[in-house]
Amino acid sequence: MPRTASRTGTHLRHPSRRRPSPRPHPGARLGRVIVVRTVPAIRAAVADARASDAAPVGLVPTMGALHAGHRALLGAARAECQTVVMSLFVNPAQFGEAADLGAYPRDEAADLAAAAAAGVDVVFAPPPDAMYPAGFQTWVDVERLGTTHEGAHRPGHFRGVATVVLKLFNIVAPDVAYFGQKDAQQVEVIRTMQRDLDLPIRLRVLPTVRDRDGLALSSRNARLSPDERQQALALPRALATRDPVEARRILETAGLQPDYVEVLDFDPPVLAAAVRVGSTRLIDNVVLESSSTESSSMSERPTAEARPT
Ligand code: AMP
Repeated sequence: MPRTASRTGTHLRHPSRRRPSPRPHPGARLGRVIVVRTVPAIRAAVADARASDAAPVGLVPTMGALHAGHRALLGAARAECQTVVMSLFVNPAQFGEAADLGAYPRDEAADLAAAAAAGVDVVFAPPPDAMYPAGFQTWVDVERLGTTHEGAHRPGHFRGVATVVLKLFNIVAPDVAYFGQKDAQQVEVIRTMQRDLDLPIRLRVLPTVRDRDGLALSSRNARLSPDERQQALALPRALATRDPVEARRILETAGLQPDYVEVLDFDPPVLAAAVRVGSTRLIDNVVLESSSTESSSMSERPTAEARPT
C-alpha cells in the first residue's frame, strides 16, 4: 500500500498489508497480532505505527466474548484504518453487581484468535490494576443522560463506561473509534462526552448485527435456555413495530415486563427497550430515522440493521 495513501485520504482496499513497524514491542505476538498489557506498551506500539506512517489508527473497544457484532466493528476498522487496535478489557467500573462481573464470559485465547482472524494489529488487554491503579478517584459523569433509561436501572454504569472510554482514548489516541448501535445509549453518552470535552476522535457507529431469528447478538445470549431464547424473540419483534405502545403490548403478551420501552431522542432517534428474560437482562433498539446525509460532524451514524456475516 503506497505510503501516500493515508496522507491523501485515499480509500484503502487492503490496508492490512501495512503494519506497524516490526521493531520489537514489550508484548507477545499471536501470529501477526501484538498483544500488550501495559499503558506504556500500547503507547509505544501506536507511536511506532504513527512513526511508520501507518495512520489512521482505529480503536475498537471490547470486553471480549467476541461475536459477529464485534467482528463487524473490526472489519470496518480494518477496511478504513492503517492500524487497528482492539482493546480487550472487562471493565469492572461499569458493573453494578459483583456477581454480574464474575459471570461475564471470558475466553482470552478465543478472543485473540478472533482478533488475529479479523486482521487486528494490536490487542490492548490490560489487567484491572493497569486501568484502575490504587488511589484511582477521577471519574467522567455524563450527568443527565447517564442517569436515564439504562442508567436509571444500572446506577453508575455509564460513569464506568465514559471513564474507561476516555481513558482508552487518552491511552491509544486513535483517529477513529468504532462502536455498535446495539448499545444506543452508550453511543449517545460517548458522543456527548466527545462533544462536551472536545475530544479529537471521529466516532463510527455500526448497525446492530442480529442472528437469523432476529435476536441482536450479545455475549449475554449464551445464558438463555432454549425456552428463554424463544421468549426473548419477542424483543426484536416488538421493536420492529417501531411503535412503543404496540411494542409494549407484544412484550407483555410474551410474558416479559420491560424496564422501559420508549422512543429516545438520540442521534439518530431510536425505539429502545430492556427486558429481563429469566435472570438475563437484554437491551435492544431500532433506529427510527436513517441518516440521509453523511454526517459532516466528527461522528457518523448507522443507517441499517445488519445480519451476521
Ligand atoms: P462489548 O464487548 O459488549 O463491550 O461490546 C463492544 C462493542 O461491540 C460495543 O461498541 C458494542 O455496542 C458492540 N456490539 C455489541 N453487540 C453488537 C451487535 N450485536 N451488533 C453490533 N455491535 C455490537
